[in-house]
Amino acid sequence: SAGIALFPEHGETADALIRHANIALYHGRLSGSNSHSFFMPEMGESTDQRLQLQSDLRHAIDHDQFVLFYQPQVDLKNGCIKGVEALIRWNHPERGLLPPSDFLPLAEEADLIVSLDEWVTRDVCKTLRAWTEQGIAPPRIAINISPRHLEEPDFVEQFIALLAEYDVDPAVIEVELTENLFIRDPNMVAQKLQTLAAHGVMIAIDDFGTQYSSLSYLQKFPIHTLKIDKSFVWEIDREYRQHAIIKAIISIAHGLGLNLVAEGVETEEQLRFLEIQGCDEIQGYLISKPLRREALEELLIQGCGILPKS
Ligand code: C2E
Ligand code: MG
Ligand code: MG
Repeated sequence: SAGIALFPEHGETADALIRHANIALYHGRLSGSNSHSFFMPEMGESTDQRLQLQSDLRHAIDHDQFVLFYQPQVDLKNGCIKGVEALIRWNHPERGLLPPSDFLPLAEEADLIVSLDEWVTRDVCKTLRAWTEQGIAPPRIAINISPRHLEEPDFVEQFIALLAEYDVDPAVIEVELTENLFIRDPNMVAQKLQTLAAHGVMIAIDDFGTQYSSLSYLQKFPIHTLKIDKSFVWEIDREYRQHAIIKAIISIAHGLGLNLVAEGVETEEQLRFLEIQGCDEIQGYLISKPLRREALEELLIQGCGILPKS
């Protein structure tokens, strides 16, 4: 992403230009990655809001204001819940429940993302502990880990130590990573993923096919699951070309012995298409929105029969 400030209308000194370009960058990021935006004077006033939000975010981490929602991933062959993805929300004291898009970019920028990811991992561990005590058989739980976090020198050790602290079986944990990770430092990434996998943790590639990457990493790294991005799934009803892309992804994944989860499934038409193509699992509003833990537990007790009848 890029933020742009022009001389002289957006500032007459290097300092002012850089500050304004940064503000434009921040605004661009709010609307997604790979964007560029020009500075506008109206953006200036929200800098204070942003600083306020960053300090709120620090406070929120220390005061447990986050809550995890869980979205089921259902096996297309038998309608049983195979896994769930943990998705963070911020229970903001004044603004209510905030989605990740409202605060993750800020957390990245303020270097709080590692603390957030750790909070998520700990909370997942607590939930798994509670399920063991309640006699609920745990599904696979997917945790999103940001590239910045994985780059921490002791990421793997800390992660495994946290699981051990709660006596969690690493084999129920799946770490979701995005492809962009692989263009950073492939040797470092390979080594970390291999250590994680050696402990039994599974590795999923999120939003597969949407970012810059090469396919060769699929062979080089110990990957278990590919997640077909929702942008491909949503085009099933509309665009014939997307059918070819999804078919190709399914064929690559199965050729390499990987599990496939299609994300963002909203219609029965999408479900049927994915079923015919042999996709393994689906996740999306058609089955369930992300749920609070209590609501998920009811579904877990039901376990199967989650797919709509054809
Ligand atoms: P993601 O990992 O690709 O997660 C899937 C997103 O798609 C979630 O959005 C989910 O609610 C949404 N989704 C699932 N099915 C459907 C559907 O049928 N229709 C629509 N419209 N949306 C659907 P959410 O929860 O807002 O999370 C957005 C992103 O924020 C996630 O994308 C992930 O990249 C990031 N994120 C969420 N929780 C965490 C976390 O704990 N740690 C980190 N580092 N990132 C997180
Ligand atoms: Mg994810
Ligand atoms: Mg995704």
